[in-house]
Amino acid sequence: MLNKIRRSIRFVFIIPTLIFFLTATSCSRQGDKIYKDTRILMATAVSITVVSPTEQKAKEAIDAGFNEIKRIDDLLNLFSDKSDISLINSNAGLRPVKVSKDTIEVIEDAIEISRLTGGAFDPTVGPVKVLWNFDSKVIPPGAEIKKALPLVGYKNIEVKKDSNEVFLKKKGMMIDLGAIAKGFAADKAVQVIKAMGIKAGIVAASGDIRAFGLRPDGKLWHIGIRNPRGGRKDALATLYLSNGAISTSGDYEQFFILNGRRYCHIFDPKTGYSPTDTISASVIAPDGYKTDSLATGLFVLGHKKGIRLLEKLGLDGMIIGSDHKIYLTKTLRGKIEIKGDNQFNNGG
Ligand code: ADP
Ligand code: MG
Repeated sequence: MLNKIRRSIRFVFIIPTLIFFLTATSCSRQGDKIYKDTRILMATAVSITVVSPTEQKAKEAIDAGFNEIKRIDDLLNLFSDKSDISLINSNAGLRPVKVSKDTIEVIEDAIEISRLTGGAFDPTVGPVKVLWNFDSKVIPPGAEIKKALPLVGYKNIEVKKDSNEVFLKKKGMMIDLGAIAKGFAADKAVQVIKAMGIKAGIVAASGDIRAFGLRPDGKLWHIGIRNPRGGRKDALATLYLSNGAISTSGDYEQFFILNGRRYCHIFDPKTGYSPTDTISASVIAPDGYKTDSLATGLFVLGHKKGIRLLEKLGLDGMIIGSDHKIYLTKTLRGKIEIKGDNQFNNGG
């Protein structure tokens, strides 16, 4: 379990030294300060940072944020028998299942992103995912992957909004929200924290960060994107964010290398194997559900189609290709600081 948790503590992070710096000096004229807590939730390190005039108010808001993330995880967790997602999956091909409004919302969000990415992001990738075990470093037999592929296809999810029901049309289908749930949960936690009167903060569920408001000194939040071939605290790029989200998906969290080829936990829904064009993909957008799922989708699409899609959607992002080049959307250039001495080159 600990290993699993360690594996998932990862790649986009709030630079810790900066947070330290903020706590020491960033008292505003109103006496606002930064408060932060980190807990293990959704099998990863989740941290909540709030700007608050009192410690008591900060603590209440942070607790409420964590409770909200736990509530969403209880609904969406693929591995808990009692979650809405398990219920939907165990009734695949049999009958529609009544679920909570939040589950309907995130499944509809997931379908929206599946359409936008032409199925590169697909929440029905479950039957492929369960074949891969990154601890045992064994490639599943081709025949098993071939058998799983017809069960992957977001178009076979039926959502009945008026009755809050979800039906998977084929027996054996499995919804897996692993690539959208953390961003969605961060959005929900921010809603709850804001409703408690907090004007600024950050919810960071490992690689998925949702920020709002400004630091007590009136400046933007400072976010670091990890060097995908460096250590956990090695930032490759930094950027500034107020209201919005950023997510990164990469090939360096759950992976193994066999015969010189790297296999990771993001799968191309068309092939059942991990794509090889990309090392990491970062997306910036107003909402966490969008950055989380799009980052995964972009990883599958690769740098050419990925950057083109972001520019079409009017969003910003960065892709590091396996050619070791950094690709940025046009509008991100000038807004992101890339560290000079790294092993990646500007790809345009
Ligand atoms: P992480 O969960 O490591 O933050 P992602 O957000 O990219 O990274 O999600 C990866 C997880 O999403 C995988 O562990 C798997 O459960 C699921 N997944 C893998 N490939 C896809 C895909 N093409 N579309 C949707 N979900 C995927
Ligand atoms: Mg994702």
